[in-house]
Amino acid sequence: MTALLSVRGLKRHYPVRRPGGLFGRPATLKAVDGLDFDIPAGRTLGLVGESGCGKSTTARLVLGLVPPSAGEVRFDGGLVTAKHDAAWRRQRRRMQMVYQDPLGALDRRMPVAEQIGEPIAIHEPGLPAAERAERVAELMAQVGLGASMAQRYPHELSGGQRQRVVIARALALDPALLVCDEPVSALDVSIQAQVLNLLDDLRARTGFAALFISHDLKVVRQMSDRVAVMYLGRIVEEGAPEEVFHAPLHPYTQALVSAIPVPGRRRERIVLEGDPPNPVDVPAGCPFHPRCPVATARCTREVPRLERDAGRAVACHLVTAPAAHAAE
Ligand code: SF4
Repeated sequence: MTALLSVRGLKRHYPVRRPGGLFGRPATLKAVDGLDFDIPAGRTLGLVGESGCGKSTTARLVLGLVPPSAGEVRFDGGLVTAKHDAAWRRQRRRMQMVYQDPLGALDRRMPVAEQIGEPIAIHEPGLPAAERAERVAELMAQVGLGASMAQRYPHELSGGQRQRVVIARALALDPALLVCDEPVSALDVSIQAQVLNLLDDLRARTGFAALFISHDLKVVRQMSDRVAVMYLGRIVEEGAPEEVFHAPLHPYTQALVSAIPVPGRRRERIVLEGDPPNPVDVPAGCPFHPRCPVATARCTREVPRLERDAGRAVACHLVTAPAAHAAE
């Protein structure tokens, strides 16, 4: 399947100083450290991992909001750059973002209808006001906002309603790709399911592709056609959701999955020691080795490559044939 979004060798490193003020030793923070993935048109890739693993930096790189240190992002064949010129604006129109914090994403001084219509006004300045108003009304209906909300301001809305405004605004230009960065993590649990169902429904109806980012495996599983698990700026496992959740191959994924309760079944929880290391001090060898319950001496020396086979990918020295494992 041809990729709508193609990411190759993507890295984003930041020069930092270790504690010590001006005299602190220079170091490198490896926020994203060599990502490869594709998203075909109309499909969703879920990116999951703990806070600080590089998920949000990946979103910003994909949208050209920050330049990569190495590697490239291609959208519909064209290179995505962080040079915000006319070509980037044309691309950006077809790649929209849904943010974690809907209040921060909205202009507090602008009523709902104006917020949703703003991208249309910017990108289609010749469109008559009546037609724009009609499009806004359709978008509001699509995301389940009543017409009575049109003149309300963000502070007059609930968290779920604000996120619906953000989603309507993101869909206003009929994007081919939606990048959703923790779109429900700021919402009450009772509202999360409604917003997820809305996104799922809109995706089925309008056919956009999505990069869906979350720390929550259950959320990613619900929303994704494929799942990629990130640890310290790298993908450690990738596959179809049912494979990754029912037969995780990487020890890190196994630990994450073991923490998800299964109704009516007791399963042994794998508790990882410690927190993920600081991305300034990525351990040598396999970055996961200090926390890995099955690490060997080789793991302290050699970085495992992400090996792909039969639609599955895993980066672990102890997993040599993903296809064989998947079939077990
Ligand atoms: Fe664990 Fe070694 Fe596999 Fe890394 S390569 S996940 S340390 S077994």
